[in-house]
Amino acid sequence: MIKISLVKCGEYSKAYHSVNEAVELIGGIDSFIRPGEKILIKPNLLSPKEPDKAVTTHPEIVKAVIKLVKKAEAVPVVGDSPGGAIRNIQTVWEKTGMLEVCRKENVELINFEAAGSREFDINDANVRKVNFSNAVLNCDGIINLAKLKTHSLMSFSAGVKNLYGCIPGITKVEYHKLASKNTDFADLLANIYDFLKHKIRFTLIDGILAMQGAGPSGGEVRKMDLIAASQDTAALDAFLLDVLKQDISKNLVLNSLNITKERLDKIELIGTNPRCFNFKNFKFPPLRRLDYIPKHIVRFIGSFLWVKAKINKKLCRKCMLCLKSCPVGAIKQKGKDSCPAVKESKCISCFCCHEFCPYKAVNFHKSFLAKIFIKEN
Ligand code: SF4
Ligand code: SF4
Repeated sequence: MIKISLVKCGEYSKAYHSVNEAVELIGGIDSFIRPGEKILIKPNLLSPKEPDKAVTTHPEIVKAVIKLVKKAEAVPVVGDSPGGAIRNIQTVWEKTGMLEVCRKENVELINFEAAGSREFDINDANVRKVNFSNAVLNCDGIINLAKLKTHSLMSFSAGVKNLYGCIPGITKVEYHKLASKNTDFADLLANIYDFLKHKIRFTLIDGILAMQGAGPSGGEVRKMDLIAASQDTAALDAFLLDVLKQDISKNLVLNSLNITKERLDKIELIGTNPRCFNFKNFKFPPLRRLDYIPKHIVRFIGSFLWVKAKINKKLCRKCMLCLKSCPVGAIKQKGKDSCPAVKESKCISCFCCHEFCPYKAVNFHKSFLAKIFIKEN
């Protein structure tokens, strides 16, 4: 059986107690880590946002895991490669609270870009070789500290998606170009997970404050009071999707990993009863309703069913992060002082710009048919 622990925790100030309980329930820290090992704690540090915005893993969760790793007499290090902050890692560390936690705990905070990287063939059909940060390759094991969030392209961002941050810097954007269809990108995420999973000691999900709606950065904060942990990252994602009332057979990443509903029958739930959490009416990205349109209809009307990125000039602060994030060069700035604009004919609807924009200034422009199928919440 696959053990998944659930613990109710209403406040980050009580995170240590709850994180410790969640890990104890699946076997205890000493069963995952040996003394002297170098353990990479991998939070989700998507962009420079304060912890209460629910975009990034909360620093109290990171602190709790640092303390557990130290208790096991191993050596914790913390790192991630924030997609939306390729050139301002210091700001990400400060705003997300990582710098303060790591300084107080006297733990190394690793810049994945500066650590160097190596390429591997991970049997992906679209990306011939995938570059991984040496911080990931050189550690003995990884503790995957994901945030419970929605994702406009992939529907859901939890344990498996968090590992995309193991690829350093701008290379992530390049891979979006090579795996531009969402099915191809799902395959890439699944292959990255398969490549790294032997290193993952366990995955712990920070769902005390989760994000619903247009995640992973532009959604709404939703208080869920949830901490969940398992050694099986993909099964944990499948379980969470299931309790959030999503059909896991429609999830592209789980499909790619051949995880079907039968896997849910192999789960042994430990800890707080799922009925004690408010999983009801969790909002998924409206765009993903397109995944539920039958394939024969999509074949017939597919070219009239599109969603493209559009920049809201009133909200745009001209930081140009979207322009740098676009894998196909569909975003251009016409004049020196003007807002960037999307050339729709070039846009491949990867929504990297939506993910990277710190000011929620990237919206979705839908075709007439897409508007019929996608009603906003
Ligand atoms: S749309 Fe967002 S990311 Fe792009 S320039 Fe404007 S504020 Fe920056
Ligand atoms: S404009 Fe945005 S959604 Fe379109 S291809 Fe570029 S990054 Fe992707």
